[in-house]
Amino acid sequence: ALPDQYAVFGNPVQHSKSPFIHALFAEQTAQSIVYQKHLAPLDGFADALRAFIAAGGKGANVTLPFKLEAYALATTLSERAAIAGAVNTLSFRGEEIVGDNTDGAGLVRDIVLNAGVPIAGARVLLMGAGGAARGALLPLLAERPARLVIANRTLSKAQELVQLAMAVNRKQSALSSSTWDQLNEEFDLIINATSASLSSEVPPIPVSVFAKSCLAYDMMYGNEPTSFMRFAQQQGARVRDGMGMLIEQAAEAFFVWRNVRPDTRAVFDKLHAQMSEAVDA
Ligand code: NDP
Repeated sequence: ALPDQYAVFGNPVQHSKSPFIHALFAEQTAQSIVYQKHLAPLDGFADALRAFIAAGGKGANVTLPFKLEAYALATTLSERAAIAGAVNTLSFRGEEIVGDNTDGAGLVRDIVLNAGVPIAGARVLLMGAGGAARGALLPLLAERPARLVIANRTLSKAQELVQLAMAVNRKQSALSSSTWDQLNEEFDLIINATSASLSSEVPPIPVSVFAKSCLAYDMMYGNEPTSFMRFAQQQGARVRDGMGMLIEQAAEAFFVWRNVRPDTRAVFDKLHAQMSEAVDA
């Protein structure tokens, strides 16, 4: 039989590590699949997706800027995708387009399993209120942190996320929103879900938020530590970038499609090696 076809749709998509990651997962688990990059025109995501389904595609990942459009196109949504308001994983079953979101689960798995930092009982600061923060919110709360504060440049967006979580479960006494300068407590886990690191900026948080031996996590990743990671390190924090999240969200998607959980550790090491080779070249 021919291998099952999967793809990642984005614009741009050239930089995507997903084909590399899924090829390693497939090899490791002996699953017969092909996984390719699809550059969709900015105004042509739906057409590109339909062509892929017509050609026999079994599933797809969706990256920027199409996660909201994928949400709208899905005929069925998982609960976590419905709450995230965005879809990064699609499965095609006959006429059905099933939308899921594995970003938040990937983040939680990377923090709890790979970094070994429990979220249960922890005081957590989530910085940012965009798509990435929204996807992370319910998976983080499901771990039952002692406290979860959402801080954002635009306070109203952080307040909206609090309302959203309250709508799902009204007993969210641990949850609140804040501006940067009103933060006046310590946190064990500080997650940067803003895109400030893209422009080498750091959200202006007081240094008093870093509890002794806290973990500072930046969802962004690259070959160098981000500006937020460097700042956090100066405050004595342990730091981690979002590469583990990237691999874990991919593993979660692979599990959704194939019902097999790949070993992410081996892939993490290989992706690190591949990225530093690319820099040396
Ligand atoms: P959005 O554009 O939806 O949201 C951006 C957020 O960053 C908003 O909260 C915005 O605040 C804030 N922000 C932007 N610039 C600044 C700044 N200079 N100072 C302070 N806050 C700022 O982006 P996403 O949520 O989709 O993505 C956020 C980050 O997460 C990106 O860096 C992305 O690469 C990363 N990511 C990583 C993933 C992984 O697998 N590792 C998966 C998904 C995302 P405001 O509301 O005030 O505008």
